[in-house]
Parts: sequence; C-alpha cells; structure tokens
Amino acid sequence: MILGSIEAGGTKFVCGIGNENGEVIERISLPTRTPNETMPEVIAFFQKYRVDAIGIGTFGPIDINKSSSTYGYILNTPKLAWQHYPLLQVVKEALPVPIRFTTDVNAAALGEYQFGAAKDLKSCLYITIGTGIGAGAVLNGALLEGLSHPEMGHILVRRHPEDSFEGCCPFHKDCFEGLAAGPAIEQRWGKKGVDLSDRRDVWELEAFYIAQSLVQYIMILVPEKIMIGGGVAHQASIFPLVRDNVKTLVSGYFHQKELNEHIDDYIVPPSLKDNAGLVGGFVLAKEALDEAK
Ligand code: ADP
Ligand code: ZN
Repeated sequence: MILGSIEAGGTKFVCGIGNENGEVIERISLPTRTPNETMPEVIAFFQKYRVDAIGIGTFGPIDINKSSSTYGYILNTPKLAWQHYPLLQVVKEALPVPIRFTTDVNAAALGEYQFGAAKDLKSCLYITIGTGIGAGAVLNGALLEGLSHPEMGHILVRRHPEDSFEGCCPFHKDCFEGLAAGPAIEQRWGKKGVDLSDRRDVWELEAFYIAQSLVQYIMILVPEKIMIGGGVAHQASIFPLVRDNVKTLVSGYFHQKELNEHIDDYIVPPSLKDNAGLVGGFVLAKEALDEAK
C-alpha cells in the first residue's frame, strides 16, 4: 500500500509518501507561493508514484461539509491567493484516488494519536502555536468536528493586567491567537520570538495565555494528552511554565494524576516532531482507502 500525504501550510507544503505504519518513505518541502505555482509541483511529486490514497491536512479555514457546494475549498484565509481555492478538487482531478481532507492540526492530532505521544490512548489534543493558533482533537478515534472544524485558536482569554498590547487577530483583535501567536509576540516585544529566548518575562506572559486556553480545552474535552507544536513551541522553556500555570488555574479540581504529579507527561511536545501532520496524512489516506472499499 502506497499512501500519499499533503501538509499544506502558509509557509510551506510538505508532501510525503508513506505507509499504513506511519513510516515516511519520501518527503519534500515546497515553499507556499500562489496555487498556480505550487500545485503543479505538488501534483508532479505524487505522479512519480502509484499512490493508493491521499490524506490532506491544510491550513484553514476550510469547508469540511461533504454536502456543501464548496466542500474541499479553502475559505476565508488571509492568504489571498488561496481564498476560495478548491484544493481537494484540484488534487482529485490530477490524482483520482480516495482522498480525505481536513485541517493541518486535525491531521497532526491523528498522527500523534496513532503513532506518536498518544498512541496508547483513546483521546488527545494537538495545538500549534505558530503564525496562527489552531488545535485538533481526537476522541475515541474520531476527529472532533461539528458544523465545521474547531477554531480553538480564537477563544477568548483573560488579559494579563500588565499587558497593554491590543492584539492582532484580524477578526477579534485580542482573542488567544491575537495575543499569543508568533506575530503577536513579535509586535508586542518588537522582535521575533526566536530572538527573545533569554527574556523570561516574554515566556511567562506567553505561558499565561497558553495555559488559560489549555484549561478551557481540558475542562470541555478532558483529552488524555496534549501536544503543543508549532514554531513558538520550539522555545522549550514554555513547557514548564505552561504546566505550572495550568496546575494553578485548575486549582486541584481534578484528582487524576495526569493533571497533578504526572503533568510533565501530560503537556508535551509532539513525539513525531515536525512530521506529526505528514504522518497524520497517512492515517487519513488509509481511512479514505478503507471507506472506499
Ligand atoms: P507556520 O505557522 O507558518 O506553519 P511555524 O509553526 O514555524 O510556521 O510558526 C512560525 C511562527 O513561529 C513565526 O511567528 C515565528 O516567529 C515563530 N517562531 C519560529 N521559531 C521560533 C522559536 N524558536 N521561538 C519562538 N518563536 C518562533
Ligand atoms: Zn481571533
């Protein structure tokens, strides 16, 4: 079985060939330019192989409603060249195999659930903190989806009393993403996150916002593990700060060891590292193949 996976991101498209064991056989990374430039390269990569099915995890928002006329489209993205782009249809036309289509973070959550940090569990949540913030959750093997995919980056958080940054979400200003994604860090402090590693105040404030959001996800979904990925999570120092803040906010409400003495194993980096989304694409591809049988 040869499975294909596309992880479509705002800065790069990662395409891979793999199998049902989550093994990556070949992988390429292409810069995200316009659809007319990037998509022929994506298609050409897969045309070298006889793929049986493809999984797509893409930046959003996207239409995942199979009965909608714009199913498979990228919707209202700030990346203007990709607005209303029929990503699924374009791939399907060139590569007519079973395809499953979801968000990048849903794919990463599935990858970690099947083959990564949550492989022995029944549920998990994967959050990325990068140019934007998004999260996907798997509960009993199924992705959490309703009217649409979740938009967990746009929840409201309590502001830190000393934080005067107004927030930079184009829709909500000071939602979680507007206060804590990479661009918010850069605008608030006047430097990119990567150049602020030694500023403890930066990461304390960041952890203050991340922890509030995680606590809301925990209260609502009670996932068995949380993975934090994305560029900002490369700052390893945020992990202990986030865990401490989560414990403080939860305030002993849960008796489970995961939220107490074992919290170091509860809020973790993705164990598939930067391949979580790609490997999740193989899981999606396998699901598409099984559904088509
Ligand atoms: P994308 O969200 O575009 O897929 P990333 O997940 O790499 O890409 O996120 C990019 C964002 O993460 C940028 O805002 C960047 O400044 C920030 N970032 C990247 N690396 C680091 C780092 N080591 N520390 C803090 N912030 C970082
Ligand atoms: Zn928002």
